[in-house]
Amino acid sequence: MNKAVFLDRDGTINIEKNYLYKEDEFVFIEGAAQAIKILHEMGYKVIVITNQAGVARGYYTEDDVIKLHHYLDAELRKHHTHIDAYYYCPHHPEGVIPKYSRTCHCRKPNTGMIDQAVADFEIDLKESILIGDKETDILTGKNAGVKYTILVRSGHLINEAGTEADAVYDDLLSFARVGFQDTIRRSGEGK
Ligand SMILES: [Zn+2]
Repeated sequence: MNKAVFLDRDGTINIEKNYLYKEDEFVFIEGAAQAIKILHEMGYKVIVITNQAGVARGYYTEDDVIKLHHYLDAELRKHHTHIDAYYYCPHHPEGVIPKYSRTCHCRKPNTGMIDQAVADFEIDLKESILIGDKETDILTGKNAGVKYTILVRSGHLINEAGTEADAVYDDLLSFARVGFQDTIRRSGEGK
């Protein structure tokens, strides 16, 4: 069995932009590539799970999503690291493209993307972590039953007092550097 870190994309890896799909608008949150490298060194698969309702809304296509992920791959190669897999949900109940306009099991906080990753990579959720910038992400992790959920301050405005997350960090790198050990140690003591 493998353990994984499930990463939200926009606001967690790259700077949040509404309906991002253009390469030239993709900007790493500082230290994100280095953080991904550390997560690998700790023995985790690094898997992106991202809601891309812009597809259902007709703002961009699935091809655009895939192209952007290839661009991200190329950027990460410069930092000698990588993402093991990307899962995206192109759906939205109120979309305008009929093919994608429906409720689905993959749109977070549903667990369809995680379920698929578990099947593809033999992932042990009880040893896995989810990191995101929205409470929806945290809920996804809870729904799937991951061991730790981590909220980051690098994207959407968050409600730190009201979060269900196990811990809150400034960004991916601060979690990877110190939070990682802290969270695991604290949780270990509490159980
Ligand atoms: Zn979906």
